[in-house]
Amino acid sequence: MNEEKVVDCLVIGAGPAGSVTAREVAKGGWSVLMVEKRPEIGVPVRCGEGISKQLLDMIGLEKDPSFISAEMDGAKIISPGGHVLTLGPEIAGPEVGFIIEREVFDQRLAKMAARAGAEIWVRAEAVSYEDAGDGVVVGIKLISGAISVKARVVVAADGFESLIARWAGIETKLDIKDIDTCLQYEMVGIETDDRYTEFFVGRRYVPGGYVWCFPKEHGIANVGLGVNGLFVNEAGDTKRYLDDFIASNPRFSKGKITEINGGGVSVSLPLEETVADHLVIVGDAARMIDPLTGGGVYNACYAALQAGKTICEALEKNDTSKAALEPYERRWRDGLEMEMARNYIAKEKLLEVSDETLDKVISAISGYDMKDITTEEILRAVGSRYPEVLKVLGGLM
Ligand SMILES: Cc1cc2nc3c(=O)[nH]c(=O)nc-3n(C[C@H](O)[C@H](O)[C@H](O)COP(=O)(O)OP(=O)(O)OC[C@H]3O[C@@H](n4cnc5c(N)ncnc54)[C@H](O)[C@@H]3O)c2cc1C
Repeated sequence: MNEEKVVDCLVIGAGPAGSVTAREVAKGGWSVLMVEKRPEIGVPVRCGEGISKQLLDMIGLEKDPSFISAEMDGAKIISPGGHVLTLGPEIAGPEVGFIIEREVFDQRLAKMAARAGAEIWVRAEAVSYEDAGDGVVVGIKLISGAISVKARVVVAADGFESLIARWAGIETKLDIKDIDTCLQYEMVGIETDDRYTEFFVGRRYVPGGYVWCFPKEHGIANVGLGVNGLFVNEAGDTKRYLDDFIASNPRFSKGKITEINGGGVSVSLPLEETVADHLVIVGDAARMIDPLTGGGVYNACYAALQAGKTICEALEKNDTSKAALEPYERRWRDGLEMEMARNYIAKEKLLEVSDETLDKVISAISGYDMKDITTEEILRAVGSRYPEVLKVLGGLM
């Protein structure tokens, strides 16, 4: 591997975290190379494709039918006993939003990075990592051979299965209870609720997780589930949960499967350290997925904006040491960490809660005039009808 390319910033992984970071650093006038191991950005899709409306404004992406399949009015949460909590636009607001075509979305973000000046290589896999004192040397495997790239700063945006952070000596191991295994079918010929995303919660449907139905068109939806690692004993368990859900629900049982995808998501707290000398870790690689919902695109993009800003400042000062990159740590944590911590506690609590309790909670909330979907409002609603359930939910305070 003799050939060497030198850049200011090397971004590894062309998902949302990588593309948004690459765009921000390139906008600052720095040389950026983004490498993606897959032949086509965003393909295959591994996502339920639900994003919040706020996300597009945050990253400066215009709403466009080429990547938006459907716009939602809100979300419905369905309890094991069939109680439905409807979160309309006045409560769910911009939190629930669009069902997207994720491959088109990812490609659009990559093009924005390229337009800003970033160079992009596909079928280019980072395979080695070496701290060179004044930067990092990364080995890249290409179809045509191999090349080493020296960068003043590297961005590990290599997703859930991330290796880069580990190569840099950062602890990334996850406990089994902090991983959800997800499987999703795109289904045609089912009964959709076209303006609402639906979440089926409780052990009756799936233990330690939920089933989602995200409508893309009338009669077509992504139907998937995440199941906590504690409840996956053998290969095929996740598929069995999803197949059983579909078979037992007449709205879905006559549908046809047109696509299958799946993968792991972290339902953990974020990494304790997301910077090292000449290294910034962003998105799923930094375990930034929301531990309650399993959604990660918003958090990945939010952190990517903070990463881009910090990297530009560090390059400007000609100092990409850990200390110089430290502001990134503070910036993304200020925006995301509190909610992640709260949702982590909620996720832990939900692992223990029985279907009977969930039924009480959801029926209590659905019959209560909620002003807002905050923990306090939920506890107030539940307490007004089932004071005994408050003891079970106490930890959420
Ligand atoms: C089944 C499922 C459903 C989901 N549904 C939703 C949802 O509805 N809404 C939501 O917000 N989130 C959802 N998520 C989570 C969401 O997909 C992720 O949070 C999001 O993709 C994170 O973006 P990222 O850029 O950090 O990582 P990714 O999108 O995973 O991108 C990482 C990229 O790095 C590349 N890469 C990895 N290693 C290397 C290497 N060594 N060299 C070069 N390239 C490399 C990968 O090929 C990949 O393209 C879901 C996840 C799963 C698995």
